[in-house]
Parts: sequence; structure tokens; C-alpha cells
Amino acid sequence: MRLYNSLSRQVEEVKPVDERTVKMYSCGPTVYRYIHIGNMRSFMLGDLIRRGLRFEGQDVRWIMNITDVGHMTDEVTDTGRDKMELAVDDEGLTPQQIGQKYTDAFLADADLVGIERADLYPRASDHVPEMIEIIQKLLEKGHAYEVDGTVYYDVTTFPQYGKLSGNTLDALRAGHRQDTVADPNKRHPADFALWKKAGPGRLLKWPSPWGDGYPGWHIECSAMSMKHIGERFDIHTGGNDNKFPHHEDEIAQSEGATGQQVVSIWVHGGFLQMGGQKMAKSAQNIRRVTDLRDQGVDPLAYRLLCFATRYRSEMDFNWDALQGANERLTSIRKRMADWSKEPRPEPLSEGAQGFDRRFRDAVADDLDLPQAMVVLNELVSSPAVSGGEKYALLSLWDAVLGLDLMRLAREAWEPSEEINDLVRQRDEARSRKDYAASDAIRRRLIDMGLEVMDTAKGTRVRPSG
Ligand code: AMP
Ligand code: ZN
Repeated sequence: MRLYNSLSRQVEEVKPVDERTVKMYSCGPTVYRYIHIGNMRSFMLGDLIRRGLRFEGQDVRWIMNITDVGHMTDEVTDTGRDKMELAVDDEGLTPQQIGQKYTDAFLADADLVGIERADLYPRASDHVPEMIEIIQKLLEKGHAYEVDGTVYYDVTTFPQYGKLSGNTLDALRAGHRQDTVADPNKRHPADFALWKKAGPGRLLKWPSPWGDGYPGWHIECSAMSMKHIGERFDIHTGGNDNKFPHHEDEIAQSEGATGQQVVSIWVHGGFLQMGGQKMAKSAQNIRRVTDLRDQGVDPLAYRLLCFATRYRSEMDFNWDALQGANERLTSIRKRMADWSKEPRPEPLSEGAQGFDRRFRDAVADDLDLPQAMVVLNELVSSPAVSGGEKYALLSLWDAVLGLDLMRLAREAWEPSEEINDLVRQRDEARSRKDYAASDAIRRRLIDMGLEVMDTAKGTRVRPSG
């Protein structure tokens, strides 16, 4: 698979540094509020990369962090109040309760749009010692300085600062001249806090070599990524707004501390807009995944809708297009239910294999899902490929698409007499502990395209996929 690397500004082949497992880190949700479908579009990017790589037979380890400390109300200047503390005031819950409530809601919403669970969801608040360790290393190496309990990163010590976002130090200094609330303790206006002194009344704070305080937002991703997937890993994702300052600062921290390149490929997703404006709480135009469901739309239709736009481009959300995607999804699922009753020839015909190649090429080409959908639509209406083959191909492709295309086929499915017989024979073999015979029947059922489950009531089967 090839992906556009925001750092090199080129499309590059994904090659795991350890030659076995692709290791990917995605900036995850802030859990002081419900996440919206714009955030979801960015999280879906990590899911699609993992699905696409697995589709090619690649092992992937995917980590997504949970931000539950250090995210300030003003994200660009990193000032204001910690959003978690604001939520505590608003909701009358403890920070832990708020974190848990919105983490649970995030996972449930992510499930609804077909985002498969990451391998790990590390929480920032569980990684403060690791963050302190990196900050100490940065101080030792001269990349950071302390002023009165707050530790800043000295951007002038990292000559490559700006390489990701293109924001050079000169440009940043010039830009900051108009800044009326410049922090007098900073040596350069682009210096950023790694650790902040806890002011009076601060709820979330930890002891540190510099006194009680709390970490900056960027340091959490350096600490959690390097702890869980190592100091040299393959892919880092986020939304476009994460490029600066968040990822620019992460590079300065991680590379400053380790003295080496840490991330190979940086992938950034375009914004979801609504009414021409970025979807954001501040713009008051947010929608949750559950809002879509409340409108009678399958949340997976939102996923299908996202496939119409290349991931790096901005995408405008509108309800009509979503309704259209919902109808299209239902129509494909209905066709799948019909096709599931037709024989599935093996091997696939030349024509079907051609479609398969084109679909795989599109996915591998920097996740060109609009093109993959063109191939899918052509296949659906192609007179040259049999229904059984269409079913076989679409159920394979659904491993990447995650649209549950087999849903109606599964619901409408009735086992044949032959299958019922085999199930009976297998249960009999099991009850007389003849496991060789029961395994042989199990393999036969699997070869027939079925998933075989052992339940308390005996063998159960259903179409696989
Ligand atoms: P946050 O919880 O604000 O840190 O955002 C979580 C993720 O969603 C980040 O990767 C953001 O870049 C991304 N994001 C925020 N707003 C949008 C949007 N309107 N469209 C796409 N991604 C977004
Ligand atoms: Zn991050």
C-alpha cells in the first residue's frame, strides 16, 4: 500500500521498519465531550489504513490514544483552561467519571460507523511518568528550559522545526508580533510548554521534579507512541489541524529526545465541513453518529458517504447525500441477499478476477476509495459476472469497506437440508467424543462458506463474512 506522507510530501510505499508488523499510532479523541462525525472521519482514516494493509496480508498493530488531560481551550496558543476541568465544572462529575463516560460513548459511536477496535487505547493520565522521563531527557540534552515550575521546549535547538507544517521559526516569530498575550517566560514565541506549573485551584495535577503540575498536550503523544510501538514506527495519523502545532511539536520532542527519526509516514485527513464551515463545537454545527441513527439512517451509510471523497480532501456533509448513501447501501445489501442464493463458482472467472485486481489497486493507491467505489458500482451492474461471483467478491471487499454488505443475506439465510444434516451429524460425533469426525465435518462446513460456532445448544452455522 502506498500513502501520501505529509512530511516528504510524496506518496510512499508502507514498509514496516521491523519487516513484520506495521505499527501505527492515531491521535485519538479528547474525552471531555461527545465526539462528532467530523472527528469520526479522522478516526476512520486509521481504521481504513489498517483494513487496507490487512487486506494485503500485512500484520498491523494500531494504537489510538485517549486524551484526558492537557488539552487547553485555545489549542493554537495552548493557553486558557484545561478542557477536562471545564467539563468537571459543567457536569459535576470527577475527571475520571467524565473520561470514562466519553470514552465509552466514543467507542460505541466508533463501533456504529464500522471502526474496528484498535489494539490498545492508552490514556494520557496513565502515562505522566513516561512524559516526565522524556521531558527530563530533553532538559539534559539542552532542548528544554524551566522557568518557575514550567518547562518549555526551546524550538531554536531543533533546526528542523517546521519541516512538517512548513511553519518556519522566522515566520512564526513574525506572526507572533501581533500576539497580545505573549508569555514573557518564553525565549521564542514558538516555544511550547512540555510541563505546566499547577496554578491555585488546579484539580488535575501530578508531582514532578519541577513541582506540582500537569503535562502539555503534545508530550502525551510522544510518550504513548514510543512506549507502545517503539522509538521507530511506521505510520502516524491525525486530522489536518493536528499538523500544527501538535505533530510539529511531537516531532521536535520525540526526535529531540531520541536523536533519530521516529515516524516514517505522517498521514493527515481532510476536514468534514457543514455549510462550508469546519464541523466543530465552536461553530455549533456538530452532529453525533447517534444523531444520524435518530434520523433513521444506518450509521454505516455515513461511512459509505465518506468513501465518495478522497481522504485528504475536505468533504461537505449534507443530509440529502446521506439519505442517498443510505438507500444505496440498502439496495446493495438486498442484491447481496439475492446473490447469496446463487452458486459460487471456483475459481473466479477472468472477468471477476479483473474486478478484484482493480479494486485492490485502488485501495493500495493511497486509499483511493472513490475509485474503489467506481469498481464496486461497475461490478454490481455488470452483466458479465454471475451473482454468485458478485457475492463472493463483495464479501471479500467488505473486509476493507466495513459496510456489513452481507447483513440482509445473513438475516434472510436458511440452512439447506444438507447443512442441517451435517450439523446433526457433527453434534452426534461430539456427544460420543469422536473429535476427529466432528472436526472433519466442521472443515466441510467451513469449505461451504459457513462460519461454525460451538454454542451451549450445539453447533450453529451462518454464512461467513
Ligand atoms: P479532538 O478530539 O478535538 O482532539 O479531535 C479528534 C480528531 O478529530 C483530531 O484528529 C482532529 O484532527 C479531528 N477533527 C476535528 N474536527 C474535525 C473535522 N471537522 N473533520 C475531520 N476531522 C476532525
Ligand atoms: Zn496526538
